Amino acid sequence: MPPRPALLNARGKVTVSRLARAVRESATLALNERAGQLAARGQAVIHLGGGEPKNKAPLAAIVAAAAQLTSGDVKYVPADGTPSLKRAIVRYTEEHYGRTVAPENVIVSSGAKQSLFNLLVGLVDPQDEVVILAPYWVSYPEMVRLVHGEPVIVTPEDGSFVPRLEEVEAVFGGSTRALIVNSPNNPSGVVYPEELVRGLVALCEEHGVRLIMDDIYHRLVFDGVRPPSAYALTERDVDESSVVVVNGVSKLYGMTGFRVGWTVAPRDLVEVMKNVQAQTTSCPAAVSMAAAEAALTGVQAPVENLRLAIQNQRDVLLRELRSLEDVQVAPPLGTFYCLPDFRAYSDDSEELSRFLLEKALVVAVPGREFGAEGHLRLSYCGSTKDVIEGVRRIRWALDPNAPTEIVIGGRRCVRDWS
Ligand code: PMP
Repeated sequence: MPPRPALLNARGKVTVSRLARAVRESATLALNERAGQLAARGQAVIHLGGGEPKNKAPLAAIVAAAAQLTSGDVKYVPADGTPSLKRAIVRYTEEHYGRTVAPENVIVSSGAKQSLFNLLVGLVDPQDEVVILAPYWVSYPEMVRLVHGEPVIVTPEDGSFVPRLEEVEAVFGGSTRALIVNSPNNPSGVVYPEELVRGLVALCEEHGVRLIMDDIYHRLVFDGVRPPSAYALTERDVDESSVVVVNGVSKLYGMTGFRVGWTVAPRDLVEVMKNVQAQTTSCPAAVSMAAAEAALTGVQAPVENLRLAIQNQRDVLLRELRSLEDVQVAPPLGTFYCLPDFRAYSDDSEELSRFLLEKALVVAVPGREFGAEGHLRLSYCGSTKDVIEGVRRIRWALDPNAPTEIVIGGRRCVRDWS
């Protein structure tokens, strides 16, 4: 097959691969760039698009990372992570999933993102299908494409953010290799009911499909909700089960920049992931792993403090959103996102998002990115002040009943559009 014209430079030479071209540009990055330009010009931009808590890393993590650094002994470590961090993850799995696993069931990676990618490399052959439930985290379909697989999206027919088991079962076929489940869910904040997760576990085990539970937000939950542990819903041994769990320190401890995530999976899968990792990045960073181990084994007050702070912000955001009568929102039970329905104002979430940035200096991520057109993802991990001010500006920009004048960053702005 001749190369597509887009792959050729002016002299007809192939420039980049088809695979690389197939990966979509991140609309979020483009949005952030534009927001950065506006902020650099002194504009008072409010970010409701963020994906990381603002807290400092737990003290224990900082001290452990500093100690590792000052020892000067910062070298390669085993490809699947330091034995002591793996032991800490084994204990974490016992405590939070009620499952005893062996260190050979655990592999540490440079963030849950790399865990997911290596998992897909380990599972997917060209054209294999990976089922993804909408709304979904933007990276899932792109990662599946990067391993030459086919993302198959299940969109709940009833317009909710929770699929029915039958809808998932309907897309399972001979090429289905994996199902990715993210609950608490980025972008909607929904927590799937236990009955659904139980059904998904049974479905995957019956069909020999891997069930990848992306549990990165599993302790950032509200109102006493506890997301079910998929391991509690299978009788099978970890090595025989379809269940694979991905988790990490990024969100729970606000340690996004340390880049530590992990996978708990059957040994044979961990073994191939270890080979993939050894041949690509060698191992996760030693300093970061020291920090992650300290976070996992130290006092857990930072997690609870963060959870309470975020729950409070969620309440503020829901209260403020009530002033936008035509906006429907499913109250989130976890994460630090929600996904209100803005279709009363526009069906084109990208256009709406651009409009809000230009007119009201508010960053909100278009739902189209997550397979939820007509919605905007609002994040409430920033400050309470930003949440309140952000919604005030959105209301001014969209709601004809709102006052026509507003002060943004000390500047008087008049709404002169309808
Ligand atoms: N899964 C989901 C659903 C996420 O939202 C994120 C981060 N945005 C990740 C995985 C990746 O986390 P990490 O920082 O550990 O790579």
